[in-house]
Amino acid sequence: MERLWTPWRMEYIRSATVAEEDEGCVLCRLPGAGDDARVWILARGALAYVVLNKYPYNPGHLMVAPFRHVGALEDVRADELADMGELLQRAIAALRAASDPHGFNVGMNLGRAAGAGMPDHLHWHVVPRWGGDTNFMPVLGETRVLPELLDETYAKLAPHF
Ligand SMILES: [Zn+2]
Repeated sequence: MERLWTPWRMEYIRSATVAEEDEGCVLCRLPGAGDDARVWILARGALAYVVLNKYPYNPGHLMVAPFRHVGALEDVRADELADMGELLQRAIAALRAASDPHGFNVGMNLGRAAGAGMPDHLHWHVVPRWGGDTNFMPVLGETRVLPELLDETYAKLAPHF
């Protein structure tokens, strides 16, 4: 039987257990941080941006989000969706160029019941996949990811955007 595998559901567990975030919406705060590399923003469109997931399921796990604070997919404007779609394509192309994944999981969790850790600001998860990576996935999922590793991933990916 084919199983639907949804690694981005980890986001919910992590945001519930890691109480290090400041007040307010993370996805709203990041673009205004003033230093894209420091917060791992890889690319900006006119209406949306690409940022590394702070708690990656695989190296290169990133998110595409609109700048505007919007939670319901049906409330996202057509021009925002178009911008997100273009960034999604750029993200896939950049990941391919940087780390040659065998496949990708692309998904959106809409609502907490669906596993969204940040249900009020929707975002696409892009998770690069390699054959056999599920074997070490449970171990990796329990490991605290150090910022240095994200910096490495960022440095590898950024030139391809
Ligand atoms: Zn927001």
